[in-house]
Amino acid sequence: MTIIPKKSLGQNFLIDQNIINKISNLTKINNKIVLEIGAGTGNLSSGILRQSPKKFFAIEKDKKLFLNLQKQFNNKITFINDDILKFDEYSLSKDKLTVFGNLPYNISTEILSKWIINLKDDNFWFDSLTLMFQKEVANRIIAKFNTSSYGRLTVLANWKLDIEKICDISPSSFSPKPKVESSLLFFKPKKYFLKLKNSKNLEIITRTFFNQRRKMIKKPFNQLFNGDKQILERLNLNLNLRPQNLKLTDYYEIAYEYEKLSC
Ligand code: SAH
Repeated sequence: MTIIPKKSLGQNFLIDQNIINKISNLTKINNKIVLEIGAGTGNLSSGILRQSPKKFFAIEKDKKLFLNLQKQFNNKITFINDDILKFDEYSLSKDKLTVFGNLPYNISTEILSKWIINLKDDNFWFDSLTLMFQKEVANRIIAKFNTSSYGRLTVLANWKLDIEKICDISPSSFSPKPKVESSLLFFKPKKYFLKLKNSKNLEIITRTFFNQRRKMIKKPFNQLFNGDKQILERLNLNLNLRPQNLKLTDYYEIAYEYEKLSC
């Protein structure tokens, strides 16, 4: 069957066996339940399968690729023809899943945000995530404060996850070649993080602060807290700083204070 890659579904298939092996070998999975996001033509799936996971699920939105994958792998992998953005990850297993994905780049941040925002009762459905992003997005995820890549995505991603950059991957490892460099990131759930009643509050905070990146944080602070002096004292913020100068923990504490305002 000839496959014409769909740009709209971010179809850039991994073809570099070294990279496929590197990704598949990053964690021990022989007693694990694996979930792959966007199995595509099954190149990464084959690498993962060689590591003999206990059970292997893979989601693929493209119907044609899905049917092809089913034929290719018989019953060794359980393929699901669905959209990862609409899928309930908790429905697959009681055990934690080990996740792999050469993500469709147009929705990669949406996928990661969904996983952080939708964690039920802070109960992680995964034990690790090994994910490919375009390099620019990966840089935003792992950015340090006081840099221009630091922003909403950094604050959200680092809230509940420990993140490690594994390596950069060049366009020639894919077919068709993407226009941009890629980076492989490895995520693990954090044991300790500041718990919020509603994770949407952190989204509200980061949106309000980073909407005015170049302005001092006086304005968003006053907007959210009505200039409350006691809250300012508890947070110990210098209102003349810019959003990128605040540490991660500052943002989690701001969200915590914001949450206390509503019953
Ligand atoms: N893992 C494969 C393919 C990566 S390309 C490889 O490395 O070779 C990204 C894949 O994600 C494509 O196959 C694309 O069809 C699929 N995809 C795109 N949007 C999706 C979505 N919303 N849900 C599930 N899969 C999706």
